[in-house]
Amino acid sequence: MNPFSTLGIRHDIVNAIAELGFENPTPIQEQAIPVLLSGSNDFVGLAQTGTGKTAAFGLPLLELLDFEKNHPQALILCPTRELCLQITNDINNYAKNVKNVNVVAVYGGANISDQLRQIRRGVQIVVATPGRMLDIINRKAIDFSEVRYVVLDEADEMLNMGFQEDIDQILSTTPEDKKTWLFSATMPTEVRRIAKKYMDNPFELTMGTKNTGNVNIDHEYYVVRARDKYAAFKRIVDFNPEIFGIVFCRTKIETQDIAESLIKDGYNADALHGDLSQQQRDKVMKRYRERSLQLLIATDVAARGIDVNDVTHVINYSLPDEIENYTHRSGRTARAGKSGVSISIINSKEVGKIRQIERIIGKKFTKVEIPGGFDVCEKQLFALVHKVHNVEVNTEQIEQYIPRIMDEFKDLSKEEVITRFASLEFNRFLDYYQNAPDLNAPADDRGDRGERTERGERGERGERSSRFGSGRGDYTRFFINLGSVDDFTRGDMLGFICNNGKISGKAVGKIDLKGVFTFFEVENDQSEAIQQSFKGVEFNGRAVRIELAGDRDGGSRERSGGGGYSGGGRREGGGGRERSGGSGGGGFRDFSGKKREERSGGYSGGGAGRSREGGERRRRS
Ligand code: AMP
Repeated sequence: MNPFSTLGIRHDIVNAIAELGFENPTPIQEQAIPVLLSGSNDFVGLAQTGTGKTAAFGLPLLELLDFEKNHPQALILCPTRELCLQITNDINNYAKNVKNVNVVAVYGGANISDQLRQIRRGVQIVVATPGRMLDIINRKAIDFSEVRYVVLDEADEMLNMGFQEDIDQILSTTPEDKKTWLFSATMPTEVRRIAKKYMDNPFELTMGTKNTGNVNIDHEYYVVRARDKYAAFKRIVDFNPEIFGIVFCRTKIETQDIAESLIKDGYNADALHGDLSQQQRDKVMKRYRERSLQLLIATDVAARGIDVNDVTHVINYSLPDEIENYTHRSGRTARAGKSGVSISIINSKEVGKIRQIERIIGKKFTKVEIPGGFDVCEKQLFALVHKVHNVEVNTEQIEQYIPRIMDEFKDLSKEEVITRFASLEFNRFLDYYQNAPDLNAPADDRGDRGERTERGERGERGERSSRFGSGRGDYTRFFINLGSVDDFTRGDMLGFICNNGKISGKAVGKIDLKGVFTFFEVENDQSEAIQQSFKGVEFNGRAVRIELAGDRDGGSRERSGGGGYSGGGRREGGGGRERSGGSGGGGFRDFSGKKREERSGGYSGGGAGRSREGGERRRRS
């Protein structure tokens, strides 16, 4: 027997939710549905968004209401228009096979006459935001005298938004003996108070411990200097090529600023904040839902009620002023049993705030180091490899070109072709990231000297266990921008170093030949000389660069040479980013300054209103 049938849900509804992929009830559904189906209890459910609470109250309502009658029998109040539409849509989906179910969504910022018309036609379930609901009540356009159930969804959010009085007035128009079901992610005293005020000995259900965040969320924090925050943020994004995230800022201005910078740097990002018109907000949300956007930059208020599945990361670009809001923010990821990561980028003074949040959510944060430039390169490279491997081939379209392509490659082995394809992107990451500085705040800045991080690295820069660290004992380790793709063997490289560096082979230590670059060691006392000798050296018309490998993580922030991008002010450079949102592949930055300029020509107009077409055009150009 279907587990939902066992809970008491009728066949028609079970079939409809099975089509939505509901095979087994979520914990809250399992526990709440039998209680609510009895219809005789007030109810308080402490549950995060994303736990399946809409069905936890929606399914019992469909069982309890009399759809032969066409007057309001259930009222669901929720904080935002987004959530209002979501709930309405969900209930309509559950009720697909049930006759005569009429649900109306009542929310501000939309034409009231349409909503009034729907109400006049007859509804049993009203899903509403408090402001517009009260407006309609005041117009005497609805009769709640036969309401049997009131659901207060995301009660804490409604109170946060100052809806207390509206709720009081709305509920005063409903019968005394109705049942009230309250759902809230957190249980501050104000929510306790309304629970007490409106309910009679409610059945209380707490999913997890009180105020505890979703167990599927990993909480991480990074400590950076304030001036490095944006660069660190981009580094984190680049290190997660598959990211589909919501980035929280504290103010509208910060939100807009970050979104614009990201767009300028070629990311698929856009802003969501209260200064946008409803139409603009809808547009942004639509693009995010469709995954045309990879990063949604939002304020707390604007992001309320955002209900998008599969958000992989929530990033707290700024910690919330109200610590309670942290739970709401992080609850946007790890929905429907999935896992997610909530990242906070903080400065050393904010570590105390993290400890406070830990106490509230009852869960420890993990301190993570901002990845080094080469870690990002490696991650991006393998995301590309993965993408190439899994790409859907449009045989019909590409077939005609295959013979010519094959002809081009006929003198290359499979290994050579693969190496070249991978290098095409990798060279660019490398060019961009090779001088990328260590963005982690120095340990003595963090008040956590010597604390081991998740990756087992020590916080101090000199001790980082980087593959690109300084050479062993008597040797200095160098980087050179030539490697096996340039047809070098280790022997060739040794010869090249000796000839051009004007040193003896005996002074050269380990040679670590990579695809497009190589690390090699030189005796310490030769290190100055070799750097001088290599000045102006070219290989096949290309400038050859050697650099101290130890500098590579902590070195200068200035870009050198042609691939450089001098991004504005404090920002680390950024290239155009080619990313087809949600395609499952790695997102790739264009690390070449020249290309970036060409591509940014594809953009028109300002930040928030910018559409996906900009990105599309860029890709075609
Ligand atoms: P909610 O907390 O109601 O916003 O639900 C979060 C997400 O989980 C929604 O996308 C639901 O469609 C989905 N969901 C809810 N219940 C189940 C279930 N029993 N099985 C699978 N998905 C579910």
